[in-house]
Amino acid sequence: MTDTGRLSSAAIYYCPFCAEEDLRPVEDPQGAWRCTACARVFTVSLEAVDAAHIPGRLREQAALEKAHLEHAESHKETTS
Ligand SMILES: [Zn+2]
Repeated sequence: MTDTGRLSSAAIYYCPFCAEEDLRPVEDPQGAWRCTACARVFTVSLEAVDAAHIPGRLREQAALEKAHLEHAESHKETTS
């Protein structure tokens, strides 16, 4: 599977029109999905992630990753 950009090609699990789960990726337009139940072809795009409103666990994880990165940076500086 080719990665055409994390923001534009999200994996879709349910049809947004009829809630059917049987979706198939289509070639054209790229990144679009076809619902086998209602025959609609659609794309879903992620506009933004509102960091202030993501669930606590995810925010915690992001904070931990950030702290880890900052720690790695400072460690690199002190060991030279
Ligand atoms: Zn559908």
